Amino acid sequence: MTAASTQAGAPPALAAIKALIASEIGPVADELDQAQSIPPQLLDNIGRSGLLGACIAAQYGGQAFDDQAVGELGAALGAASCSLLSLFTVHTMVSVAIGRWGTPAQRTQWLPRLAGGAVIGACALSEDGAGSDIAAASTTLTRQGDTLLLDGAKTWISFGQVAGLFLVSAQLDGQLTTVLVDRDQPGLSVTPIRDMYGFRSAMLARIAFDRCVLPSANLLGSTGFGLSRIVGSVLDHGRFCIAWGAAGLAQACLEAAVHHADTRVQFAKPLSEQPLIQQLLSDMMVHSRAAALMCRDATNARQGRANDMLARTTAAKYFAASAAEQVAGQALQIHGALGLSGGHPVQRYARDARILSLIEGSRQIQQMLIAQYSRQWIHTCT
Ligand SMILES: Cc1cc2nc3c(=O)[nH]c(=O)nc-3n(C[C@H](O)[C@H](O)[C@H](O)COP(=O)(O)OP(=O)(O)OC[C@H]3O[C@@H](n4cnc5c(N)ncnc54)[C@H](O)[C@@H]3O)c2cc1C
Repeated sequence: MTAASTQAGAPPALAAIKALIASEIGPVADELDQAQSIPPQLLDNIGRSGLLGACIAAQYGGQAFDDQAVGELGAALGAASCSLLSLFTVHTMVSVAIGRWGTPAQRTQWLPRLAGGAVIGACALSEDGAGSDIAAASTTLTRQGDTLLLDGAKTWISFGQVAGLFLVSAQLDGQLTTVLVDRDQPGLSVTPIRDMYGFRSAMLARIAFDRCVLPSANLLGSTGFGLSRIVGSVLDHGRFCIAWGAAGLAQACLEAAVHHADTRVQFAKPLSEQPLIQQLLSDMMVHSRAAALMCRDATNARQGRANDMLARTTAAKYFAASAAEQVAGQALQIHGALGLSGGHPVQRYARDARILSLIEGSRQIQQMLIAQYSRQWIHTCT
């Protein structure tokens, strides 16, 4: 950490946050994966680093990083730990939603605490009966004078075990609407979900709401604003983070595979001199490079507020997640039994890569969106 970044009031530099990811997260990622949790001390250090304030305005104590910086953080986290990539993703989804759509009172109440990590934000959209089809949520909000009654349950909520604030989607007057719910809310209960295939330290939970009475001021946006604006914009932000995370994971797989292929000798020469292994490595390099370029394309579109920035973000997420899965599988192949052994990072990369193609809209959902965008794209894309 530089002297400047440790001075009181000085925003921690992007480089210092990346250094923390490399020194405090990467080296323990396999231990976290096996423990299926993040120690409170590490969560505190992450909060203090400024990572969680990446997408919050400086006036609320955040870093107000641009898309380029957010992408770099996503890539660094994807290479280090996809579980913590998901913390960054869901927490910034909540911050972005409040920053963009929150009332002044909601911003003042939540953004400073989210920026420093005193409160972790989680996005509670999925339900037993509403996965890809988020609009099918059966959680309800009912008006009762000045208050709202929240009833229902959400599932697969990343960092739900430790989150202090939930962004919840629910039907109000038959329209999908979003509401902010404090963890201490009476009637809210949290049940941990363990033993996921990947993202094992993302501390997933099921969140149930049993006749929770909320102030109407907790609504984020107006009735029916949920699906068209808020959910759409938070998922777009989530896709951007996951796309870069996938590119970072693919790069980490390539690095591990090159190192192993150079040092592992079979048939009297290193694997890297065997033509079929070279074929795998070349394929891995091209796919990880292409993933990073798609992410840069989306970043440029976002930085320039291009009309097709949503399309380019979706395309980047679709491609990078698929590339990460392919490259991680090839890295496993190159590592042989070693890569399949417990606690080996390549095993974790492969399991985590599988999840990247499901969250923030599955591969099929991205394909459906890209097909819709393709009409607009043939006229605008250069
Ligand atoms: C590790 C992890 C973390 C998660 N974190 C969160 C979180 O923080 N918050 C949250 O709200 N949710 C979270 N989720 C849930 C995630 O968003 C959903 O898993 C995802 O939206 C898909 O929903 P589903 O699993 O119910 O699959 P389904 O919607 O049941 O889909 C099953 C399969 O069918 C395909 N499919 C669905 N519809 C179509 C169609 N029309 N055409 C073709 N194929 C289709 C899908 O692509 C998928 O392959 C998480 C999930 C995981 C695994």
